Amino acid sequence: MPAVRRLVLVLGDQLDLASAALDGFDPGRDAVWMAEVADESTHVWTHKARIALFLAAMRHFRDDLRARGFAVHYRQLDDPDNRGSLAAELERSVAELKPARLVAVEPGEYRVREALAATAQRLGVPLDVLQDRHFFCSTDEFQRYARGRELRMEFFYRELRKRTGVLMDGGKPCGGAWNYDRENRGSFGKGGPGMFVPTPASFPADAVTRDVLALVGERFADHPGSLARFDWPVTRDSALAALADFVENRLPDFGPRQDAMWTAEPYLYHSRLSAALNLKLLGPREVVAAAEAAYRDGRASLASAEGFVRQVLGWREYARGVYWLHMPGYLDRNALGATRPLPRLYWTGETDLNCLRHAVRQTLEYGYAHHIQRLMVLGVFALLVGVDPKAVHGWYLAVYVDAVEWVELPNSLGMSQYADGGVMASKPYCASGRYVDRMSNYCRGCRYDPGKAVGDAACPFTTLYWDFLLRHRDPLAANPRTSAQVKNLDRLTPADRAAVRGQADRFRASLL
Ligand code: FAD
Ligand code: SF4
Repeated sequence: MPAVRRLVLVLGDQLDLASAALDGFDPGRDAVWMAEVADESTHVWTHKARIALFLAAMRHFRDDLRARGFAVHYRQLDDPDNRGSLAAELERSVAELKPARLVAVEPGEYRVREALAATAQRLGVPLDVLQDRHFFCSTDEFQRYARGRELRMEFFYRELRKRTGVLMDGGKPCGGAWNYDRENRGSFGKGGPGMFVPTPASFPADAVTRDVLALVGERFADHPGSLARFDWPVTRDSALAALADFVENRLPDFGPRQDAMWTAEPYLYHSRLSAALNLKLLGPREVVAAAEAAYRDGRASLASAEGFVRQVLGWREYARGVYWLHMPGYLDRNALGATRPLPRLYWTGETDLNCLRHAVRQTLEYGYAHHIQRLMVLGVFALLVGVDPKAVHGWYLAVYVDAVEWVELPNSLGMSQYADGGVMASKPYCASGRYVDRMSNYCRGCRYDPGKAVGDAACPFTTLYWDFLLRHRDPLAANPRTSAQVKNLDRLTPADRAAVRGQADRFRASLL
């Protein structure tokens, strides 16, 4: 076999036909390399649907590349001599193909970037790592932006709006304001969302995906989660169809309802686009442009379009910037000194706290929970219990179909656990059961009372919330965004405080 000029490495979350790594590809001399390896599915105890999503999307991308004339060297997980790790598979391919160079777009995960660089060096093959054009803001631009300033997502987002012209009219934000958050915190009230929540477009498995589902079901039978609901877009065409479906049917109600939660309604008005975006089947520019066009044509309100754009242009780019700015040390941050193990209920959903039961069971069933379920139910509970943030991170990385470390870690360890001391969020997101009661119908089916902090009917969220304020009183009082919450402690007598602390300790001790 003639030696390959450039072996283009395409990782599972780089399924982008416009990737810089494919620039100037010469089918006569270059080849693409892709590998499914067990290590990537087992380094955290990964949800079956997350494994299946990656494998199904990779196989479709391989087929698409081949149909377009690319030579693709592809290693399947079920190939009998699969060596199980990216490094070992790459070593075999380099020995076989003798490439003059390896080419890759920068990996999305620090661990993988380091492993690739080390492998290439060990094998003595030059590795060209190219910038990922998928994002609005490169890692270098973010580093420059961050230099010498206290980072806040809001100001970064405004800069990107100005630079890209997204939702701007003549140098000013559309509508005169940068953000419509105040209009975007609605709940459903007692009646709930009614029968009118549009069902999102579903993408039934084709033969390629069915093979993957069978393989994952058998090979990873002991992994968490179910494959029964698997209907994610795994091709570029289906991802585009998912985007069109969202913009047409759910974006108009996205803004006002984005914080609300309701039993048996996992998606509500959310887009379900994160997995397709993170695999790079969709680009953030086309997603943002579609939302802006809907606003400009009068198909969506400004509050909805801006609320959505803020997530993609703002939070998603910001999370990536924070990740690469602070890795690898970010992984070990633990600003609140939390050390408890992750309660088992996160893997089983077995608990009598109704909100947690619903959020965990939905996660295991679908591989999906929307932002407020992740942040204000699952995240707040771990924060209030005092779970080790690294354990929390391991769980989030494992259980969601859209989980890739550059976006998951800043959100879980940073935003939800405040372990980075305020880089992602300017305050710890701590709340009592009353917040859950306001934003959902979970409390109505619960044996606990969200208004009570002590006694048999006390809601554990509420008990743990007051206990959290007591335990972290000084830093919370010094933070202008939480000082008002701490002031409420003045209402508690010494006996009340002792009762809260005792109840919180007993509850923590009861967790397995
Ligand atoms: P929508 O609510 O429709 O939002 C639109 C898009 O905006 C999403 O598809 C996503 O690309 C982007 N987005 C929204 N919020 C954020 C955010 N906070 N940070 C970055 N991008 C955002 N998102 C992931 O893509 N992968 C993760 O592993 C992940 N882990 C998270 C862990 C925690 C603890 C929290 C609080 C949030 C996490 N998020 C993660 C962000 C967010 O919850 C998901 O992007 C969202 O729920 C995905 O569903 P959707 O596509 O329906 O999103
Ligand atoms: Fe959750 Fe407390 Fe409400 Fe029960 S009462 S659902 S534990 S917030």
